[in-house]
Order: sequence, then structure tokens, then C-alpha cells
Amino acid sequence: MANTQTPLILGIEGTAHTLGVGIIRGHNILADERTMYIPKEGGIHPRESAKHMARNIPTIIRKALDSANVDLKEIDAIAFSQGPGLGPCLRTVATAARTLSILAGRKPLLGVNHCIAHVELGKIITGAKDPITLYVSGGNTQIIAYNLGFYRIYGETLDLAIGNALDMLAREMGIPHPGGPKIEQLALEWESKKLLPLPYIVKGMSLSFSGLLTSAKRMLRKGVDHRQLAYSFQEVAFAMLAEVTERAIACTPSKSEVMLTGGVAANQRLTEMINEVAREHQRTFHPVPKKLAGDNGVMIAMAGLREYHVQRFLKLSQSTVKPKWRVDEVPIPWMKKSIA
Ligand code: AMP
Ligand code: MG
Repeated sequence: MANTQTPLILGIEGTAHTLGVGIIRGHNILADERTMYIPKEGGIHPRESAKHMARNIPTIIRKALDSANVDLKEIDAIAFSQGPGLGPCLRTVATAARTLSILAGRKPLLGVNHCIAHVELGKIITGAKDPITLYVSGGNTQIIAYNLGFYRIYGETLDLAIGNALDMLAREMGIPHPGGPKIEQLALEWESKKLLPLPYIVKGMSLSFSGLLTSAKRMLRKGVDHRQLAYSFQEVAFAMLAEVTERAIACTPSKSEVMLTGGVAANQRLTEMINEVAREHQRTFHPVPKKLAGDNGVMIAMAGLREYHVQRFLKLSQSTVKPKWRVDEVPIPWMKKSIA
């Protein structure tokens, strides 16, 4: 019998590099176990990351059940990241989720959109009710806000995600993956704050980072100071993100909150800039704390909880993965129908 009050939900994240298992009872986090695939060289290799997940999944699930102090049979539903993401990773995690749902006593299976999971967990953690979300990570860069039954994409990258661009710049500097934090550190060391000329590319409400990366790589080959390049790259890329966030604010006069999430939300300079944009437009600012801004299983469980309450359970035949699943394809019946 389904528990509609405070269901116990296990969520599995596995879209790119992080395998995460979260267990929640209602909004209480009982377990948050993770392991991250770190490539020996270069960027994320989808099959290698999937192998890392397959190898670690039994241990991470066991650890999560132990730290939550619950038995698998007590779990009310299994949520998993159905997309978007890397096919081999998604398939590994979907297989684990199907198996668990059967082992737990044929419990409902919930297919969660990874980007929506970031938004839903962010709202619960920061207290934002109906925010404009800037979601910046290794695989995604989007400005998302709810409108008339769906989360709509107000702006997004046309090519590279910001985290990916930072990681690729770092790799070119000989810094191992993930390079974002090291780029931030280098930028802080550039005290003169003199900028290098780099291309600033905003097209309507969307962004492009590939030209910026190409120019930065070219400068690197000419022997530019790494600190100055890191500083300039951040200033230009984050100003682009701030501009499109500002436009989204202008398009949504009824919304009073700005949320920042995704792994790149850990960056202090970006946080400062988005906070400033929110303040200038009298919006409250809701940064998701670093620990829960990156990929994790808890966010999948929280979005799964929303799905559970509207009884959007998957049949096994509907549980195939969706590597290119967009946020605006998923009906959001748990939000009331606001307009811009
Ligand atoms: P996610 O895909 O959401 O787990 O986020 C991972 C991405 O966040 C990677 O591209 C990291 O390089 C990036 N990242 C993590 N910390 C920072 C930071 N302090 N500054 C910039 N990027 C960061
Ligand atoms: Mg993510």
C-alpha cells in the first residue's frame, strides 16, 4: 500500500560523472552517498564512467540504506535519473533502478529529469517558491522558470556548457578534471584585474562559449599568464550569464526570486555577480549550497517525491532512458499555473 503522507524514497543519480544514491522521508534527507568518476586523462569517457557506476552501485546502495537505517523492503518508491545525460551511464542506472524496484517488493518506479531535479531540490533547500533558475554545470547551462504547466527554458547555451568550457580551458593548462575550482583559484591570484580581450557572445536569450574557448586556447599558445587568462575568461563568461539572467528577470515580472544551482554555482565570483543582478532588480537571491548544488542522489529522490504525489509511476516499458530529454517536455502538475 503506497504511503501518501511521508513516503520513503530512494533516488539514484547517474547522468555523467557522479553516481549518487539519496534516501529521503518527505523532505528529510536520511542518506546522501556518492562516488565520482575521475578520468585518468582528458574529459569524461561515457563508457568508462558507466563502468565506474556499474562497479560501485551495489556498495553505494548498501551504504545509503545503512546510513538511513532502513531496509530495502521499507522503501516506497525508486526514483532514477532517466535523462538527459550520457547514454551508457543512464542505462546502467536505469537497470539498477528497475532491479531495485522489483527487489523492494515491486515498488513504483519514478523517472526523473535531471535538470528538474536540480530545481526541485534547490527550492526545498533555499526556500524559493517560484524562482528564475540559473543552472550551470558540467553538462548544462540553462535559465529555467515555471510558466503555465511547464518549466520553460528562457535561455541556454548553444554549444558548450559553462562547466565544460572551464574544464576544457583547465585541461589545456595541464590541470586535471574537474578544472573549474582551479580556474577560480588562478583568477583570484590575478590582482591587477587587467582584462584580456575575449569574445562576448550572447544571442538573444542564449549564449555561446565555444568561440570564447577557442580564443582563450589561442592566447594560451602565445604564452599568456594563466592567472590573467583564468580571470578574463571568468569575467567574460560570467558577465554573459548575468546578462541573460537579467533578461529572464525582465521577462518574468511576477517572479520575485533568483536561484543559482549546478556545480559551477560553487564559484564565488559567479555567485557575487548573480546576487548583484538579483539585488538591482529587487529579487531575492537563493544560491544552492555547494554540497547540494552539484549532482547527487537526493535531488533525484526529491523530484521523485513530487512525481510520487501525482502518482506518475513508470511502467517497465516506459523506463527506457532519454539522453536528450528537455526540461520543457515534462508537465509540472505540482506547481500552480503562474504566468510571467
Ligand atoms: P555538475 O555537473 O553539476 O556536478 O558540476 C560539475 C562542474 O562544476 C564541473 O565542470 C566543475 O569544473 C564545475 N565546478 C565545480 N566547482 C567550481 C568552481 N568553484 N568554479 C567553477 N566551476 C566549478
Ligand atoms: Mg547536473
